[in-house]
Amino acid sequence: MTTFFITATDTNVGKTYITTHLLKFFLTKSYQARAIKPIETGFNYSQGVPIGSDVHTYQQINPNNNYSPAYYFDVPASPHYSAQLTNAEIDIDTLENYCQKHIEKSEITLIEGAGGLLVPFNHQHNFTHLIKRLNCPIILVVKNQLGAINQALTNIELCEFYGIKISCVVINQTDPSDDLALENINFIKTQTDVPVVQIDNNGSFEAFAERFTPIINDLLKETLTTDDLITNLNLDKNHLWHPYTSMTTPLKTYHVNYAEEKYIYFSDTEGELKSKKLLEGMGSWWAVNQGYNRTDLNKSAIRQINQFSHVMFGGLTHNPAIELGKTLLEILPNGLEHIFYSDSGSVSVEVAIKMALQFQVAKNPQKTKILTVMGGYHGDTFGAMSVCDPNGMHGLFKNMLAEQIFIPRPNCRYDEPFDKQCLEPLKKALKEHQGEIAGIIIEPLVQGAGGMWFYHADYLRYLRQVCDEQDIVLIFDEIATGFGRTGAMFASDLAQVTPDIICLGKAMTGGFMSFACTVTTQRIAHGISKNGNPFMHGPTFMGNPLACAVAKTAIESLQNSDWQYNVKNIEKWLIEGLAPCKKLANVDDVRVLGAIGVVEMREPVNVEKLQAQFIKKGVWLRPFGKLIYTMPHFNFNQADIQLICQAIYSAIT
Ligand code: PMP
Repeated sequence: MTTFFITATDTNVGKTYITTHLLKFFLTKSYQARAIKPIETGFNYSQGVPIGSDVHTYQQINPNNNYSPAYYFDVPASPHYSAQLTNAEIDIDTLENYCQKHIEKSEITLIEGAGGLLVPFNHQHNFTHLIKRLNCPIILVVKNQLGAINQALTNIELCEFYGIKISCVVINQTDPSDDLALENINFIKTQTDVPVVQIDNNGSFEAFAERFTPIINDLLKETLTTDDLITNLNLDKNHLWHPYTSMTTPLKTYHVNYAEEKYIYFSDTEGELKSKKLLEGMGSWWAVNQGYNRTDLNKSAIRQINQFSHVMFGGLTHNPAIELGKTLLEILPNGLEHIFYSDSGSVSVEVAIKMALQFQVAKNPQKTKILTVMGGYHGDTFGAMSVCDPNGMHGLFKNMLAEQIFIPRPNCRYDEPFDKQCLEPLKKALKEHQGEIAGIIIEPLVQGAGGMWFYHADYLRYLRQVCDEQDIVLIFDEIATGFGRTGAMFASDLAQVTPDIICLGKAMTGGFMSFACTVTTQRIAHGISKNGNPFMHGPTFMGNPLACAVAKTAIESLQNSDWQYNVKNIEKWLIEGLAPCKKLANVDDVRVLGAIGVVEMREPVNVEKLQAQFIKKGVWLRPFGKLIYTMPHFNFNQADIQLICQAIYSAIT
């Protein structure tokens, strides 16, 4: 199945002419081809025949090519306006489904747009969005006139900006005796790698076919076939390691084509994915909190790329780092004011541990251990692994890691009255290891990958107290909880406890790209830098300008949204939606905090099997161990949360 989207630099440039001729061309080459027009304005049915319409023109080439547009309107104007005049609304999902149905039924599908790429069909969507969802290349039609070079290049650049593939550029209505017109073509050819096809004024179909015949194979191999996809997936399976899985018996992976807002669009190789579009319930592992493919983030990335995407941070600085610093200082709990940028959460934890140790070196040199709780997870690098639950996923390396001090996880639930009893193991360890403990690291309120456990804020308040009393550095790993996930900007805010060091990552860029930071107080920073001592850490991509620019935009757009209200609602809907799971015999516990919903099973689940069930229900969830959980984006509505909760309930039952 091959699909081309035919678009143009303007209206009246010859899109329909090219579409009908291409339809005829593919039919004469014995391909099963069809042409469709999802939206047509200026469309009149006269006695059942859409006289003069584009659809009627296709029908003249092939009488069977008789497909009404998904939307058609009398008034010949921009689709959003023509629709508005009839109180209609054009819906991108309907357009997508309309096109997909045709694509599935035909070997070659030609989809003709209306006007150019940015022509809107409502206030959120234009043709670029539809093309990206369909994941098909375009054929760009340009009228050979004064200004053609600018029009062609503007559209080519636009496609690059939006990540749209161009199959070929067709320069229409060329006068072969006009040197200027020929020069337009020659110049455009030097600016693009794709074929540029010249179509002459008043040329015959035979002349048209002659121009396309040499490139037909190139055109048809543009699109990935199902066979290609299967080959690629096999390469993936045999050569690419995926997270937390085996190379010889890997868990199944699904192939993503596109992501937008709350959905991921998949390739369907086994007919298993409902509509090939799934509601993404994992926030891509806590990172995506405001949806995929956000125009504001894309634009800020592209703007920065066009300035410089990276320079070393040693001896250099730049506005993206400074501006992000300003934003972070505004939102972080008071007192956290010295920022160390790094490239991933794990590295930010390494930096935090190093900071705590270096702070103690001059002051209390015997303090060399980090205390932490069981059930914690802080990353996959060696320092971070040393403070992860030793019985958890890194258990294999137990004897190869720096030896730290572990106490049981805080067993005081977040939603029950605080029981001081849960402090006993902590008190005991502090006594036993008095004078040895440089720092305490903990995920505040929510333990993530180590068990999705939520505990009481008073535990953190007590930690703050003992750290002050005993000069221990308190580190909060907010890589998962930061940027609104618990309902407060940081879990530290919710618990009303400020640590000495905080680690941030994941949602800092709205899940756009990897970036992290470790932020500390003046007391710790000045202690580390006593006598001008350097802090010996400096990742190559420290302060990466591209990531800084995106992070600043992501934080600002979060601040400008109704995230607190949304997370409150999501919390309420998750509590309601997951409540029925509590009654199921195989469920041990159900808990919800902010935009985090967890169902803990009595036994470990079969990830692949469960995932296949979720996919059938139209949602993307990835359980682990005994945990089925969701971290919705903050813009999910009630129906989205219900869909997720119902999918979880029915998969369990
Ligand atoms: N700390 C916590 C609490 C995390 O959830 C994670 C990632 N799951 C990390 C650290 C490690 O972050 P990264 O994967 O970016 O290295």
